[in-house]
Amino acid sequence: MQTARCLVCNSDIIIEDEMYEGDLVSCSICSRDLEIISLHPVRLAVINDEDKNSGVKDKQAETGEEE
Ligand SMILES: [Zn+2]
Repeated sequence: MQTARCLVCNSDIIIEDEMYEGDLVSCSICSRDLEIISLHPVRLAVINDEDKNSGVKDKQAETGEEE
């Protein structure tokens, strides 16, 4: 077992022995999901929840304005 630093809140995150590169760990302090990108040494990457390219945008102002 080893520990890594949370990239968001800088607290220690425990990396269990059975975790591998590509696995996700959740920070117990800020509850953000981090991806393990390397194990020796441990490196984490923040998962971007807001980076979903679903193409769904707020279209509110379609009221047919005439010029
Ligand atoms: Zn954190």
